[in-house]
Amino acid sequence: MLRLLRDPSLIPSEKLTTLSNIANLAETLSMSCYLVGGSVRDLLLGRPINDLDVIVEGDAIALGKKLVETYGGKLTPHFKFNTAIWYLPESTDFVDLITARKEVYEKPGALPNVTPSTIEDDLRRRDFTINAIAVRLGGEGFGEILDPLKGQADLGRGVIRALHPKSFLDDPTRIFRAIRYEGRYSFSIVPSTVDQINPEALKVLHSLSGERIRHELDLILDEGHAALTMLRVASLGILDVIHPKMPEFAQDWAEYLEMDMQLDIPADRRTMGYMLWFMDLSEEDVISISNRLDFTNELTLSVWAAAQLKRSLVHLFGAKPSEWTYALEKLPLLSIYAVYLVSRENALLSYISIWRHVKPHTTGDDLKKLGLQPGPRFGEILLSLRSAWLDGVLSNKTEEEELLHKLLSTHL
Ligand code: ATP
Repeated sequence: MLRLLRDPSLIPSEKLTTLSNIANLAETLSMSCYLVGGSVRDLLLGRPINDLDVIVEGDAIALGKKLVETYGGKLTPHFKFNTAIWYLPESTDFVDLITARKEVYEKPGALPNVTPSTIEDDLRRRDFTINAIAVRLGGEGFGEILDPLKGQADLGRGVIRALHPKSFLDDPTRIFRAIRYEGRYSFSIVPSTVDQINPEALKVLHSLSGERIRHELDLILDEGHAALTMLRVASLGILDVIHPKMPEFAQDWAEYLEMDMQLDIPADRRTMGYMLWFMDLSEEDVISISNRLDFTNELTLSVWAAAQLKRSLVHLFGAKPSEWTYALEKLPLLSIYAVYLVSRENALLSYISIWRHVKPHTTGDDLKKLGLQPGPRFGEILLSLRSAWLDGVLSNKTEEEELLHKLLSTHL
């Protein structure tokens, strides 16, 4: 493991220094600490690591305070679980410091009761064997692997295995996690763990809050293999459990999640994913699913607008650019782009890249200077000028002035 920890292509040297600093300071406080979770899994797979999760046998908040005193930075403590986030000085890096704990689930799907404990107990509270490997930090044993649940063997076999038979009953969000790892690493869930995705576990999943389920779906949409992963969610019978009207996620949409940044629209992979997913639903079903998944108003609006626009396309075919523009102007750009991706209707792209920016040279101030009183006619005249530009009636400023004078004389 030492070799992996010292490989700069997997772990940048600043992160390694941070880990040594934590380890040294923990030793002075007679606390043992360990790197755990995703970073250990990814290091063993030879993948670069992101987040650092450090388990402390002792008081993680006390260690965090000492780290800030010694090295600077900022600490955000969470007293309920005795954890803390240490934000490093002059950096965007942070470390999760977690007091080793034991968890007892008294009710399926509810949050567990937690008591401080040892690293072994902490590994046993985790989701899968591949996520339950620890690496000792500090002292003579720096870099030593603790693998009581045989996670390394499962990493080698490419399998995801729950730690005990009631794992998905305790926390059905682990079902989504298993599927996510399966897609990301091309692993497979072992049959005994697949068997745990049974009607009893799905019933607990059904009782989860919209927020918890949406969070898991968000994380799947973030994945490179999101579409394939969603297919697996569907094939395991999970969509119906979330909401009876949840459609399947089409494989063709995978490429659409990678936004074309040249269009000058703020990219948002998750919003794009939900729009594609729910665009063909009725208005009623869009609202019902948005409520179930606890969407923000903004996300609901984006999905609703995409569905609405897709339905209205038949009425817009052959319309003039000005008609397209006025029909599209109130809709979120990303919704329009999503509908373009699935329909390839060129007018939508023209609106996004050209038409929405078309404005006449004449302004309200110009009209005032020409003696016109502000009122509804202001808007009408400016709209007529804009439509003329959009529909190719005008091609230069002189022509616009001529049309303006014509409009003013007819409007007077
Ligand atoms: P990713 O690369 O997807 O972020 P990760 O393993 O870092 O994977 P986190 O969600 O950051 O995932 O969780 C960190 C660790 O906490 C996991 O590796 C796992 O050991 C544990 N964990 C997270 N969620 C659960 C859960 N629902 N049940 C049990 N253990 C969990």
